[in-house]
Amino acid sequence: MAGFRSLARQVRDPRNDLALRRYSLRKCLERFAPYGHRATWDHLCSRAGLGPEDRSPDPARLVAALEELEEARAVWLAYEDAFAERRRKEKHDGLRRPGTVDDWHRLTWGGFGVAWCDDPSVHPTGALADVLRRLIAALERDPGACCPVCADSGLVWMHDLAHEPSSGPVCTHCGIVVPRPVLTAEALTEARRARLLVSA
Ligand SMILES: [Zn+2]
Repeated sequence: MAGFRSLARQVRDPRNDLALRRYSLRKCLERFAPYGHRATWDHLCSRAGLGPEDRSPDPARLVAALEELEEARAVWLAYEDAFAERRRKEKHDGLRRPGTVDDWHRLTWGGFGVAWCDDPSVHPTGALADVLRRLIAALERDPGACCPVCADSGLVWMHDLAHEPSSGPVCTHCGIVVPRPVLTAEALTEARRARLLVSA
């Protein structure tokens, strides 16, 4: 199975035909897709001006989409490295931490679905790297009451999500499943209550 970097080389290689270059970009999303495969594809296409179904896209736009993805991946992998390093030290010092952050990381290691968007057409609009920086900042500070990406407080608990965890607080503004570790217990309770109001 080709890794992200060799797929990225395929996307850039002008000797490849455009259909293969486009296919390789889609394969990159199987390795790294913060919103999930379909929503991240939708996002990259709209930012780079690519037609989601266009089989012979403008190569410059294809590379622009790849660059956006690569920048975001670099941000995320740097965070994971720092996180792993911190955990190693804490273990060495015999420190124990509440499990929620670790549990969440186990499900998202490598950056797939860190800001899962269950509806592929509803996702944050800003640069992917900026969105991840905001998410990381939230993971590194005390839990809060609103969406770490768009700061909206309209969170509603959703079930039957197409990704693990299969239920969680979803931001009604930007569409991400908000990682539970960034929310206070009160905010989680509030999201569950909002769910009841929606379904009532
Ligand atoms: Zn949001």
